[in-house]
Amino acid sequence: MEKLSDLELQNQTILFRQRLDDGETLDDLLPEAFATIREANKRVLGMFAYDVQILGGIALHQGNIAEMKTGEGKTLTATFPLYLNGLSSKGAILVTTNDYLAKRDAEEMGQVFKWLGLTVGVGVFEDDEDVDTETRKAVYDADVTYTTSTALGFDYLTDNLVASKNEKFMRDFNYVIVDEADEVLLDSAQTPLIISGSPRVQSNLYDISDQFVQTLSEEEYYYDEEDKVVYLTSKGSRYADEYFDIDDLYSNKNFELNRHINLALRAHNLYKKNKDYVVEDDEVKLLDIRTGRILEGTRLQSGIHQAIETKEKVKKTKESRAMGSVTYQSLFNMFPKIAGMSGTAKIAEDELISTYKLPVIVIPTNTPVQRIDFPDKVYTTLPEKLQATIDTVKEIHKTGQPILLVSGTVDISEIYSKLLLQEGIAHSVLTAKNVAKEALIIKEAGQLGAVTVATPLAGRGTDIKLGKGVKELGGLAVIGTERMPNSRVDWQLRGRAGRQGDPGMSLFFVSLEDEILINHGPKWVRRYFKNHKDKSQGKLLTQKRFRRAVAQAQEKSEDAAVSARNFTIQYDESLRVQRKKIYALRDSLIFDEESVKDEIDAIFKEMIKYYIAHHPKRTLQSLRRYILDNYSYKFQYYSQDFDIRSDHSVYRLLWHLYRNETIRKEEIIDNPEKISEFYRVSILKAIDECWIEQVDHLQQLKSVVSTRQIAQRNGMFEYYEESLLSYDRLGEEVKKKIIRNVMLSSVDKTPDGKHSIYFV
Ligand code: ADP
Repeated sequence: MEKLSDLELQNQTILFRQRLDDGETLDDLLPEAFATIREANKRVLGMFAYDVQILGGIALHQGNIAEMKTGEGKTLTATFPLYLNGLSSKGAILVTTNDYLAKRDAEEMGQVFKWLGLTVGVGVFEDDEDVDTETRKAVYDADVTYTTSTALGFDYLTDNLVASKNEKFMRDFNYVIVDEADEVLLDSAQTPLIISGSPRVQSNLYDISDQFVQTLSEEEYYYDEEDKVVYLTSKGSRYADEYFDIDDLYSNKNFELNRHINLALRAHNLYKKNKDYVVEDDEVKLLDIRTGRILEGTRLQSGIHQAIETKEKVKKTKESRAMGSVTYQSLFNMFPKIAGMSGTAKIAEDELISTYKLPVIVIPTNTPVQRIDFPDKVYTTLPEKLQATIDTVKEIHKTGQPILLVSGTVDISEIYSKLLLQEGIAHSVLTAKNVAKEALIIKEAGQLGAVTVATPLAGRGTDIKLGKGVKELGGLAVIGTERMPNSRVDWQLRGRAGRQGDPGMSLFFVSLEDEILINHGPKWVRRYFKNHKDKSQGKLLTQKRFRRAVAQAQEKSEDAAVSARNFTIQYDESLRVQRKKIYALRDSLIFDEESVKDEIDAIFKEMIKYYIAHHPKRTLQSLRRYILDNYSYKFQYYSQDFDIRSDHSVYRLLWHLYRNETIRKEEIIDNPEKISEFYRVSILKAIDECWIEQVDHLQQLKSVVSTRQIAQRNGMFEYYEESLLSYDRLGEEVKKKIIRNVMLSSVDKTPDGKHSIYFV
């Protein structure tokens, strides 16, 4: 490849595509295609990929997660499978963790793809950017697309809410590489993405439920602070029956009341003012637990926000309907081929295989790792730990060795920052939201004498290069001020040091007062802490059992996260099946060129028969009511020989109304294409309205049954059962709505020949 001229090298893309057309496979092309982009990278970017990067590229092409350490050059590695799979013209998507990285990589790596004749798309936009369908289409039609998991998920949901094929912008998924795969595929996958839309009707149940829960005595509800559950005891539900004068709170009829009582119970017990939220400007604003900041514009879903507003007696915001929801598990599993990259995936391989069928392949580092990872230093109390950490930082700082000091939360970072100031040690703090600026600070973090205080979230994907003279001092020192909820995060932090064979070290400080030990540590640790907290005087705990306890606490924390994710997957399962069917149905309608009139005919026939069968005791009045509600606002009279008892007469009447109305509308529209569009939209609207109800209903139901689970009922089973029942009802509802859409919509033609259709 080296010998080829630029033009010859660029021409390879055309040759490869011809060979694909002639029946060769991507696997056949791999060696030559990889050689081509390796040479192109060298010419365009000035980087010639290492052999281990080629190995990584092969692992990615074959649909694995490639575990590659920080600084090994995952960005460059990904260009290999992206180029190869991009040749197929079916799309190769790279998902990064944030907008900044997606844009940066698309710009930098994009140069090479363009040079080789591939198209490149970026799926992230500014918040206020007005993005039209053409632009979105170009993003997903590109051979190679850089985007984020959130943008991809919301685009997927949006794409399945459009009304015509001209508005569709996504094509079938083909191949995706997920950067920071364990974080995206596992950690972020704990909560589903929800797209919300039209406001629901505001209910007055919030107020009465709020008043009700405040009258509850202790035996009437159960609250477990650690597990974060709260529900009415059987005594409580009996009291509710009495209070609201109802037969059974758990019957379907009282679903909404039950749901609101649950919301009020949670608002009063699980959400604490000034910890989980603040009240400011007559509004409830959520706090980010990790950073302590106000999450502007973020609201809790499914009514819990409104329940808190009721509790705090501020104005209630409109509750919006969930219009679509998808978990990352479902989203990524729609790709025929998934691959991922991460520095720390091997530890989570079991879960990655069981959830995504994704094996993890460990790619060796380009040069051997020289970092030294010291065992944890464990202290009894927090102040002792703080002191010991600062002492160590001072020691190291004296030598000029750069230090990265990482804490779990912004609060703790700020404490360290203050302590460093007191010691007169200049440092940068990296907790801000501005990822682009963080990248700059991270670049400085490897210079002589630098001290950088950070949270793990900060500076993802930007590696720390060592400044002049730093190697001789031992490279970067990573100091962790606590063990993170997940050992993968610890390893990511350690991995900041010792990149590309550099020297470096890592060391974690722990106290028995750390959150992870309090929440998940063995009981004896708490006892030990109580007995020794006042007399330990800075003593380092060297016994093995303390380090073991730390490891155990972390394992328990990881297990809790795994089961929370399993729960999410199980709940999503029935929704996933239904979503698949509905979206497929929508697509078949949108893309079907045939007229759907025959189907409409069939639906009317079926529903007329259904009406007749279900109303044996009908009267003239009740039929008239039915017609006014569903067929015509203007219905006046029956013909002479009309016999309300005769099924046949009723059938003829309704069928006649339908025929007349559609003939009338078709005459006004007077264009075959527009006529079939009218019927198509009548169906689509009906499906969407019912489906949105269904998604929303299941969303609400989930919050009710997950608390019932503990109250001796099998919540998951009830959820599945109700989900199925409501899905069956949905089919019927859709048909009823179709009838109304066809019959009660009004069609007008303006003098200039345009026509307008209004649905009820
Ligand atoms: P990772 O995401 O694996 O931590 P990056 O993709 O950020 O690593 O790359 C780390 C640094 O290494 C970048 O500055 C990149 O330009 C550089 N790099 C990667 N591969 C090579 C290579 N083959 N030759 C020279 N520099 C490289």
